[in-house]
Amino acid sequence: MRILVVEDDENLNRQLVHMLEESGYVVDKAFDGEEGHFLGDTEPYDAVILDIGLPEMDGVTVLENWRRDGRNMPVLMLTARDRWSDKVAGIDAGADDYVAKPFHTEEVLARLRALIRRAAGHASSEIVVGEVSLDTKQSRVTYKDQPVKLTSHEFRLLSYLIHHKGEVVSRTELIEHLYDQDFDKDSNTIEVFVGRLRKKLFPEIIETVRGLGYRA
Ligand code: CA
Repeated sequence: MRILVVEDDENLNRQLVHMLEESGYVVDKAFDGEEGHFLGDTEPYDAVILDIGLPEMDGVTVLENWRRDGRNMPVLMLTARDRWSDKVAGIDAGADDYVAKPFHTEEVLARLRALIRRAAGHASSEIVVGEVSLDTKQSRVTYKDQPVKLTSHEFRLLSYLIHHKGEVVSRTELIEHLYDQDFDKDSNTIEVFVGRLRKKLFPEIIETVRGLGYRA
């Protein structure tokens, strides 16, 4: 899952990025509205954390532009606690949820997880495919009720496929959603990780759809 953080406060930006990376997300960051708008317009994100008060272009304008251009990724807006008008403006512009500052990073994480799940059409925090269960809250995978140890890359790949279960996901889409913008997109790592996941655990869960991609 690839997340964009647009926040001009450098400390807060770093804190959010750190927390997201710790939780297994791939994160790109921007420190002003223009840069953030550009990234959200050109890169595929599974969710965006967008501050409302930003230099160059404010968060509401960034979001309005994305929505006008059909960019419909889930957006969690960061607003000031005492400015209820900000929250209304954010929701009107197309925000899916908001968190008021100052916040506990755990709250941001919980809301983000819920947004990503809902965007993929899952109401519960646990997604099950056959004998495999993904607990999005704990970032844990179990197979036949036994916990399974995965590397962060393996987890991300499996988590993306499970969030999109039943759909064919192309190799390009996986690369775009599992790695940040500096990743070498020509490498064969996806095949390697799919192979490892199959060998390690549950060969039946990832199906190769010839010429198109993979399906959980
Ligand atoms: Ca700000």
